[in-house]
Amino acid sequence: MNNQPIIKMHNIHKSFNGISVLKGIDIEVNKSDVLAVIGPSGSGKSTLLRCLNNLETIDDGTIQVAEDFLTTSVNNKAVYADKITQKRILSRMGMVFQQFNLFPHMTVLENLLEAPVQVKNMKKDEVLPIAEDLLHKIGLFDKKDAYPSRLSGGQQQRVAIARALCMSPDIMLFDEPTSALDPELTIGVLNTMRQLAEEHMTMIVVTHEMGFARDVASNVIFMADGNIVEQGNPETFFTHPQEERTKSFLTNML
Ligand code: ADP
Ligand code: MG
Repeated sequence: MNNQPIIKMHNIHKSFNGISVLKGIDIEVNKSDVLAVIGPSGSGKSTLLRCLNNLETIDDGTIQVAEDFLTTSVNNKAVYADKITQKRILSRMGMVFQQFNLFPHMTVLENLLEAPVQVKNMKKDEVLPIAEDLLHKIGLFDKKDAYPSRLSGGQQQRVAIARALCMSPDIMLFDEPTSALDPELTIGVLNTMRQLAEEHMTMIVVTHEMGFARDVASNVIFMADGNIVEQGNPETFFTHPQEERTKSFLTNML
Protein backbone atom coordinates (compact mmCIF):
# COMPACT_ATOMS: atom_id res chain seq x y z
CA MET A 1 0.00 0.00 0.00
CA ASN A 2 1.13 3.50 -0.81
CA ASN A 3 2.24 5.29 2.37
CA GLN A 4 2.23 8.80 0.99
CA PRO A 5 0.12 11.08 3.25
CA ILE A 6 -2.55 12.67 1.12
CA ILE A 7 -3.99 14.73 3.99
CA LYS A 8 -2.03 16.41 6.75
CA MET A 9 -3.83 18.49 9.35
CA HIS A 10 -1.53 19.92 11.98
CA ASN A 11 -2.33 21.83 15.18
CA ILE A 12 -5.85 22.73 14.03
CA HIS A 13 -7.54 25.28 16.27
CA LYS A 14 -11.08 26.52 15.84
CA SER A 15 -13.31 28.59 18.12
CA PHE A 16 -16.86 29.79 17.73
CA ASN A 17 -17.65 32.97 19.66
CA GLY A 18 -14.66 32.50 21.91
CA ILE A 19 -15.48 28.87 22.66
CA SER A 20 -12.74 26.50 21.61
CA VAL A 21 -14.12 23.59 19.57
CA LEU A 22 -10.90 22.16 18.08
CA LYS A 23 -7.92 22.38 20.42
CA GLY A 24 -4.90 21.48 18.35
CA ILE A 25 -5.86 18.49 16.23
CA ASP A 26 -3.21 16.53 14.30
CA ILE A 27 -4.28 14.07 11.63
CA GLU A 28 -2.49 12.33 8.80
CA VAL A 29 -4.29 10.23 6.23
CA ASN A 30 -2.40 8.08 3.76
CA LYS A 31 -3.62 7.35 0.28
CA SER A 32 -6.30 4.63 0.33
CA ASP A 33 -6.72 4.87 4.10
CA VAL A 34 -10.18 4.80 5.62
CA LEU A 35 -10.11 6.94 8.75
CA ALA A 36 -13.11 6.52 11.04
CA VAL A 37 -13.75 9.44 13.40
CA ILE A 38 -15.94 8.64 16.36
CA GLY A 39 -16.92 10.48 19.51
CA PRO A 40 -19.81 12.01 21.41
CA SER A 41 -22.04 14.70 19.98
CA GLY A 42 -20.43 18.13 20.21
CA SER A 43 -16.85 16.82 20.26
CA GLY A 44 -15.94 18.68 17.06
CA LYS A 45 -16.12 15.90 14.44
CA SER A 46 -18.21 17.83 11.92
CA THR A 47 -16.19 20.98 12.47
CA LEU A 48 -13.01 19.04 11.71
CA LEU A 49 -14.39 17.82 8.36
CA ARG A 50 -15.80 21.25 7.58
CA CYS A 51 -12.39 22.84 8.22
CA LEU A 52 -10.74 20.34 5.89
CA ASN A 53 -13.30 21.11 3.19
CA ASN A 54 -13.03 24.85 3.75
CA LEU A 55 -16.64 25.19 4.87
CA GLU A 56 -15.14 26.70 8.02
CA THR A 57 -11.94 28.69 8.34
CA ILE A 58 -9.47 27.71 11.04
CA ASP A 59 -7.88 30.04 13.59
CA ASP A 60 -4.49 28.37 13.60
CA GLY A 61 -2.81 25.35 12.08
CA THR A 62 -1.83 23.83 8.76
CA ILE A 63 -3.93 21.87 6.27
CA GLN A 64 -2.17 20.16 3.40
CA VAL A 65 -3.78 18.01 0.72
CA ALA A 66 -1.14 16.11 -1.25
CA GLU A 67 1.38 18.76 -2.34
CA ASP A 68 -0.95 21.73 -1.85
CA PHE A 69 -1.23 23.85 1.28
CA LEU A 70 -4.77 25.06 1.88
CA THR A 71 -3.56 26.93 4.93
CA THR A 72 -0.40 27.20 6.89
CA SER A 73 0.39 28.81 10.24
CA VAL A 74 2.45 31.97 10.31
CA ASN A 75 3.08 33.45 13.76
CA ASN A 76 0.26 31.34 15.23
CA LYS A 77 -2.22 32.54 12.68
CA ALA A 78 -3.71 30.59 9.79
CA VAL A 79 -2.87 31.96 6.36
CA TYR A 80 -4.89 30.64 3.44
CA ALA A 81 -3.78 29.77 -0.07
CA ASP A 82 -4.91 31.85 -3.03
CA LYS A 83 -8.32 31.13 -4.58
CA ILE A 84 -6.93 29.05 -7.45
CA THR A 85 -5.05 26.74 -5.08
CA GLN A 86 -8.10 26.51 -2.84
CA LYS A 87 -10.24 25.50 -5.80
CA ARG A 88 -7.70 22.87 -6.88
CA ILE A 89 -7.65 21.39 -3.36
CA LEU A 90 -11.41 21.41 -2.95
CA SER A 91 -11.95 19.75 -6.32
CA ARG A 92 -10.09 16.72 -4.95
CA MET A 93 -12.57 16.16 -2.12
CA GLY A 94 -16.18 15.02 -2.21
CA MET A 95 -18.40 15.37 0.84
CA VAL A 96 -21.53 13.55 1.90
CA PHE A 97 -23.64 14.93 4.73
CA GLN A 98 -26.10 13.45 7.17
CA GLN A 99 -28.93 15.19 5.30
CA PHE A 100 -28.62 14.11 1.71
CA ASN A 101 -29.07 17.61 0.25
CA LEU A 102 -30.01 16.47 -3.26
CA PHE A 103 -31.43 19.16 -5.53
CA PRO A 104 -35.17 18.45 -5.17
CA HIS A 105 -36.19 19.96 -8.52
CA MET A 106 -33.73 17.82 -10.49
CA THR A 107 -33.93 14.15 -11.42
CA VAL A 108 -31.37 11.70 -10.07
CA LEU A 109 -29.37 11.89 -13.30
CA GLU A 110 -29.53 15.69 -13.39
CA ASN A 111 -28.26 15.77 -9.80
CA LEU A 112 -25.18 13.83 -10.91
CA LEU A 113 -24.53 15.95 -14.00
CA GLU A 114 -24.90 19.32 -12.30
CA ALA A 115 -21.51 19.89 -10.66
CA PRO A 116 -19.28 18.40 -13.39
CA VAL A 117 -21.05 20.58 -15.96
CA GLN A 118 -21.34 23.76 -13.87
CA VAL A 119 -18.14 23.61 -11.83
CA LYS A 120 -15.74 21.66 -14.05
CA ASN A 121 -17.18 22.96 -17.33
CA MET A 122 -17.42 19.43 -18.68
CA LYS A 123 -19.70 18.69 -21.61
CA LYS A 124 -22.89 16.85 -20.73
CA ASP A 125 -21.98 14.10 -23.23
CA GLU A 126 -18.68 13.57 -21.44
CA VAL A 127 -20.26 13.26 -18.00
CA LEU A 128 -23.22 11.12 -19.04
CA PRO A 129 -21.36 7.79 -19.31
CA ILE A 130 -19.60 8.46 -15.98
CA ALA A 131 -22.90 9.28 -14.28
CA GLU A 132 -24.63 6.25 -15.76
CA ASP A 133 -21.79 3.96 -14.67
CA LEU A 134 -22.06 5.30 -11.14
CA LEU A 135 -25.82 4.76 -11.08
CA HIS A 136 -25.34 1.18 -12.21
CA LYS A 137 -22.74 0.73 -9.52
CA ILE A 138 -25.05 1.88 -6.73
CA GLY A 139 -27.90 -0.18 -8.20
CA LEU A 140 -30.13 2.79 -8.99
CA PHE A 141 -29.84 3.13 -12.75
CA ASP A 142 -33.55 2.42 -13.08
CA LYS A 143 -34.24 5.50 -10.93
CA LYS A 144 -32.26 7.90 -13.08
CA ASP A 145 -35.32 9.88 -14.18
CA ALA A 146 -36.98 9.91 -10.74
CA TYR A 147 -37.04 12.95 -8.50
CA PRO A 148 -35.37 12.59 -5.07
CA SER A 149 -38.69 12.79 -3.21
CA ARG A 150 -39.70 9.48 -4.81
CA LEU A 151 -36.70 7.67 -3.35
CA SER A 152 -36.18 6.23 0.12
CA GLY A 153 -33.70 7.97 2.41
CA GLY A 154 -31.17 5.21 1.80
CA GLN A 155 -31.54 5.53 -1.97
CA GLN A 156 -31.18 9.31 -1.73
CA GLN A 157 -27.99 8.94 0.27
CA ARG A 158 -26.55 6.52 -2.29
CA VAL A 159 -27.37 9.07 -4.99
CA ALA A 160 -25.63 11.74 -2.89
CA ILE A 161 -22.53 9.53 -2.79
CA ALA A 162 -22.69 8.95 -6.56
CA ARG A 163 -23.14 12.68 -7.09
CA ALA A 164 -19.96 13.40 -5.13
CA LEU A 165 -18.11 10.63 -7.02
CA CYS A 166 -19.19 12.10 -10.34
CA MET A 167 -16.64 14.89 -9.71
CA SER A 168 -13.89 12.20 -9.65
CA PRO A 169 -12.53 13.12 -6.20
CA ASP A 170 -9.40 11.53 -4.72
CA ILE A 171 -10.82 11.81 -1.22
CA MET A 172 -14.31 11.30 0.15
CA LEU A 173 -15.51 12.86 3.40
CA PHE A 174 -18.58 11.44 5.10
CA ASP A 175 -20.31 13.16 8.02
CA GLU A 176 -22.59 10.63 9.71
CA PRO A 177 -24.02 9.49 6.38
CA THR A 178 -26.41 6.97 7.93
CA SER A 179 -27.52 8.83 11.06
CA ALA A 180 -30.74 10.08 9.48
CA LEU A 181 -31.69 6.63 8.18
CA ASP A 182 -33.76 3.80 9.58
CA PRO A 183 -31.57 0.81 10.41
CA GLU A 184 -32.77 -1.27 7.47
CA LEU A 185 -31.82 1.52 5.06
CA THR A 186 -28.33 2.02 6.45
CA ILE A 187 -27.10 -1.32 5.10
CA GLY A 188 -27.23 -0.28 1.44
CA VAL A 189 -25.38 2.95 2.18
CA LEU A 190 -22.72 1.18 4.24
CA ASN A 191 -22.30 -1.38 1.46
CA THR A 192 -21.74 1.39 -1.06
CA MET A 193 -19.09 2.89 1.23
CA ARG A 194 -17.52 -0.50 1.82
CA GLN A 195 -17.26 -1.02 -1.93
CA LEU A 196 -15.57 2.38 -2.28
CA ALA A 197 -13.05 1.39 0.37
CA GLU A 198 -12.35 -1.87 -1.48
CA GLU A 199 -11.61 0.20 -4.56
CA HIS A 200 -8.99 2.06 -2.48
CA MET A 201 -10.77 5.39 -2.19
CA THR A 202 -9.20 7.54 0.53
CA MET A 203 -11.98 8.24 3.02
CA ILE A 204 -12.64 10.05 6.28
CA VAL A 205 -15.86 8.81 7.84
CA VAL A 206 -17.49 10.36 10.88
CA THR A 207 -19.78 7.61 12.07
CA HIS A 208 -21.67 6.00 14.93
CA GLU A 209 -21.57 2.66 13.09
CA MET A 210 -18.99 0.84 15.21
CA GLY A 211 -19.31 -2.34 13.12
CA PHE A 212 -18.42 -0.41 9.98
CA ALA A 213 -15.50 1.31 11.72
CA ARG A 214 -14.18 -1.99 12.99
CA ASP A 215 -14.52 -3.83 9.67
CA VAL A 216 -13.63 -1.18 7.13
CA ALA A 217 -11.45 1.47 8.76
CA SER A 218 -7.68 1.32 8.62
CA ASN A 219 -7.48 3.78 11.54
CA VAL A 220 -9.91 4.96 14.19
CA ILE A 221 -9.81 8.30 16.00
CA PHE A 222 -11.82 8.97 19.13
CA MET A 223 -12.53 12.65 19.76
CA ALA A 224 -13.92 14.33 22.87
CA ASP A 225 -14.13 18.03 23.70
CA GLY A 226 -12.12 19.12 20.69
CA ASN A 227 -9.20 16.77 21.33
CA ILE A 228 -8.11 13.43 19.97
CA VAL A 229 -8.30 11.23 23.04
CA GLU A 230 -7.13 8.00 21.46
CA GLN A 231 -6.37 6.53 18.07
CA GLY A 232 -5.22 3.27 16.63
CA ASN A 233 -5.93 0.47 14.24
CA PRO A 234 -9.46 -0.87 14.70
CA GLU A 235 -8.35 -4.23 16.07
CA THR A 236 -6.39 -2.68 18.95
CA PHE A 237 -8.70 0.28 19.40
CA PHE A 238 -11.87 -1.75 19.86
CA THR A 239 -10.44 -4.70 21.77
CA HIS A 240 -7.93 -2.86 23.99
CA PRO A 241 -8.93 0.79 24.39
CA GLN A 242 -6.51 2.51 26.76
CA GLU A 243 -8.32 5.63 27.92
CA GLU A 244 -11.22 5.65 30.37
CA ARG A 245 -13.18 8.03 28.15
CA THR A 246 -12.82 5.70 25.19
CA LYS A 247 -13.87 2.71 27.26
CA SER A 248 -17.01 4.36 28.57
CA PHE A 249 -17.93 5.69 25.11
CA LEU A 250 -17.54 2.24 23.57
CA THR A 251 -19.51 0.59 26.36
CA ASN A 252 -22.41 2.88 25.56
CA MET A 253 -22.12 2.37 21.79
CA LEU A 254 -21.68 -1.40 21.52
P1 ADP B 1 -19.93 16.92 16.43
O1 ADP B 1 -19.99 16.84 14.94
O2 ADP B 1 -18.84 16.09 17.03
O3 ADP B 1 -21.24 16.63 17.06
P2 ADP B 1 -19.61 19.75 15.97
O4 ADP B 1 -18.34 19.90 15.24
O5 ADP B 1 -20.86 19.83 15.18
O6 ADP B 1 -19.56 18.42 16.84
O7 ADP B 1 -19.72 20.86 17.10
C1 ADP B 1 -18.72 21.07 18.06
C2 ADP B 1 -19.11 22.26 18.90
O8 ADP B 1 -19.05 23.44 18.11
C3 ADP B 1 -20.51 22.18 19.44
O9 ADP B 1 -20.51 22.72 20.75
C4 ADP B 1 -21.30 23.07 18.51
O10 ADP B 1 -22.40 23.64 19.16
C5 ADP B 1 -20.28 24.11 18.13
N1 ADP B 1 -20.51 24.68 16.79
C6 ADP B 1 -20.42 23.98 15.62
N2 ADP B 1 -20.65 24.79 14.57
C7 ADP B 1 -20.91 26.02 15.08
C8 ADP B 1 -21.21 27.31 14.51
N3 ADP B 1 -21.31 27.46 13.17
N4 ADP B 1 -21.42 28.34 15.34
C9 ADP B 1 -21.29 28.19 16.68
N5 ADP B 1 -20.99 27.02 17.30
C10 ADP B 1 -20.80 25.94 16.51
MG1 MG C 1 -21.52 16.27 13.68
